[in-house]
Amino acid sequence: MSLIFTPLGIRGIFGESFTAMDALRIGNAFGSILGEGSEVVVGMDTRQSSPVILKAVIAGLNSAGVDVINLGVVPTPTIEWAVDYLDADGGVVVSASHNPPEWNALKLLGKRGIIIRPEETEEVRKLYEKGSFYNSSWSSVGKEEHADVIPEYIATIERLVDIESIREAKIRVVLDPNGGAGIFVTPYMMRDLGTELTTINSVPGVFSRELEPRPESLVTLSNVTRSLGASIGFAHDTDADRLTIVTEQGEVMPEDVSLALVVDAILRELKGGTVVVNIASSKMFDDIASRYGARIIKVPVGEVYVAHKMVEVKADVGGEGSCGGVIYPKFHYGRDGPFAAAKILERMAKEGKKISQLISDLPRYHIIRFDIKTKVDWENTKKKLEKIAKERGMMVNDMDGIRMDEESGWFLIRESKTEHKIRVVIEHKNKEEAENLRKEILRIISE
Ligand code: MG
Repeated sequence: MSLIFTPLGIRGIFGESFTAMDALRIGNAFGSILGEGSEVVVGMDTRQSSPVILKAVIAGLNSAGVDVINLGVVPTPTIEWAVDYLDADGGVVVSASHNPPEWNALKLLGKRGIIIRPEETEEVRKLYEKGSFYNSSWSSVGKEEHADVIPEYIATIERLVDIESIREAKIRVVLDPNGGAGIFVTPYMMRDLGTELTTINSVPGVFSRELEPRPESLVTLSNVTRSLGASIGFAHDTDADRLTIVTEQGEVMPEDVSLALVVDAILRELKGGTVVVNIASSKMFDDIASRYGARIIKVPVGEVYVAHKMVEVKADVGGEGSCGGVIYPKFHYGRDGPFAAAKILERMAKEGKKISQLISDLPRYHIIRFDIKTKVDWENTKKKLEKIAKERGMMVNDMDGIRMDEESGWFLIRESKTEHKIRVVIEHKNKEEAENLRKEILRIISE
């Protein structure tokens, strides 16, 4: 297997498909595109392979005459914010996010910390595959300096929420950063916000549970939250751009609930506005937008599409419902777990409600998600689905796979961008209808 280039990042298994040599060449390719004299912010998660990959990336950038500001181990959103804060020309994040420990990945950022466009990733890939290596002269080789931006990053989040209300509420919080980079930010922010905090799985680089913060993997967080009588539990993935919520009753919420709570708060404050979500996001985002007369725009799955659309339409908030990532442009254009946590605490404090109450105020649907690993005759499937759309009067959107909507439900069938499989999402107000749709889809695909 070779290194995988996707519009969302460049990834592989350390020592197999992704080596320090690859990181050196990609760092150099990216640096040569930015040009001599540019400045790039870098940082990494807590994976065992991350320091080696980061050193190689820095050597590649420096060789191309690019200066590097190294933030060390920090969450991905901290790097994204810092590119803008330090007025750098770009950034490199070393983290495989929620992928298993043997994986690592590079996320390349442009100006303002925004993930680079797919065509820019393509340019990096071409240089990498050509094997070209740009060497600046001895006198213009890049420098590396270190910076600690965490205190200012936390202070910036605190300026974006009503810190006094949160402090007064003294909320009992349990945090599960699962040994990820969030350890170096979220607990400090929580203490400063006056919460009574218990942190579990807090040894950097020790991943005690599955890395993806899904309900199935958050049993300990659920148990600890309930048994301590805490008001809320939060979980991150290893780079802390994602946030999953556990209620005071220990119920682990689907990840889009975090985004929905924040979107609802921001559109309410603005009495409208614009929200951008991906095509796989719940219909509850349409319902929330219509509550406040806000505009909702949908894009293909992938943070890169959400972020660039948000810039284009000057969106007020957005994100990827499917993975609980909140993007708030007043802060920066990446998904930010610590910010989302602070905003949710603000809601609990200001509205004086339990997290379970805030969640029950959200429009909810019965949701079914599943993957199909067999080969699918995509063209044929599409034709059959379009026929059903006509019969049932459903609206069809084919920007990424095929999504069909009716008044009280919808479904999406799309090819995964990162794995060889077909992903299906079904949502309906009526549980039985959701189940009927599932059977119908399986029948069509298997025909
Ligand atoms: Mg992540």
